[in-house]
Amino acid sequence: MIPHSRPTIDDDDVRAVGEVLRSGALAQGARVRAFERAAARALERTDGVAVSSGTAALHLALVALGIGEGDDVLMPAYTCTALLHAAACAGARPVLADVDPATFNIDPASARRSLTARTTAVIVPHMFGAPAELDELAALGVPVIEDCAQALGATWGGRPAGGSGVLTVCSFYATKVITTGEGGMVLGDDAGMLDRIRDVREYDGRAELRRRFNYKMTELQAALGLSQLARLGTFVARRREIAAAYTARLEAVRARLPHDPPGGRHIFYRYVVRAPEAASRAARLREAGVASPRPVFVPLHHLLGGTFPGAEEAAATALSLPIYPSLAPDDVTFISRAAASALELPDPTWVPYSLASSAP
Ligand SMILES: *Cc1c(COP(=O)(O)O)cnc(C)c1O
Repeated sequence: MIPHSRPTIDDDDVRAVGEVLRSGALAQGARVRAFERAAARALERTDGVAVSSGTAALHLALVALGIGEGDDVLMPAYTCTALLHAAACAGARPVLADVDPATFNIDPASARRSLTARTTAVIVPHMFGAPAELDELAALGVPVIEDCAQALGATWGGRPAGGSGVLTVCSFYATKVITTGEGGMVLGDDAGMLDRIRDVREYDGRAELRRRFNYKMTELQAALGLSQLARLGTFVARRREIAAAYTARLEAVRARLPHDPPGGRHIFYRYVVRAPEAASRAARLREAGVASPRPVFVPLHHLLGGTFPGAEEAAATALSLPIYPSLAPDDVTFISRAAASALELPDPTWVPYSLASSAP
């Protein structure tokens, strides 16, 4: 089975982590600080604060904005459940808005309708690597937290996705755009807010009592993160090449293919096509030897309730193809053919994977 996602690790990554191991300085230190600065440069932000996961970053972003009991946090219905848990962890109520199934991103008109008197933030994930259009969301008048967990390297209007929210969060989970195994970061331009996060991410060496936790990243993770971040451009270029290969093969198929938004650059963290009866097509792909899990495991309104037709359509039609820089060129060809077949394009040259891989 061709895996749906894999980290891309090279000798430089191994060397960087090995150096930290031999140095004996394993816990948060100079490398974490260097990783924060490098990530801030990449996203054109003033600074960053590294933490233990993307979910931790979301939680601390809410804390830094003073959000808690009595606040509503707006988020799209079709996204990662981490958003829901981060809001709940801060003591706030998650409130959902619908998504535009054409882009999988939050629908600004629905976001406006979902505003309440207690809405104090909106979390905007750039879904599957497609930059969300932020101008209309900024006009809602509540702070925007950009979630770049799936969109490092994406751009909109010539600027990096993650470059304009009051705060921006990243995830460096094993199979994200770049990885530290587990890890995350909050970035922004407001030194006061970032200092608050820096302060509460550790419990030790503090005289005054406030709510704290251990949310720190290790030097091992930061060394890997620095090494990975140096290759972000290469990673994104390879993702776009693979996406172009899929698109060339699938253009004739009756499915909606992902593409760059006008004025923006998609990084194809996921290559998600839309077709009717996506679940049975995904099953056909799996039978052919290509892993194709649901790109969003459970839409948030299936957990919280409510009616969100855009999210419902997204969930029913999304079909995700494996895409990552370490995907072998032969696999790209094989996946394109398997996808064309699963999407009902007759292809006389297509053979099952077991036969293809044992051919002379
Ligand atoms: C992965 C992800 C997160 C959570 O990140 P973790 O590092 O797994 O905690 C948050 N938001 C989005 C959009 C994600 O894809």
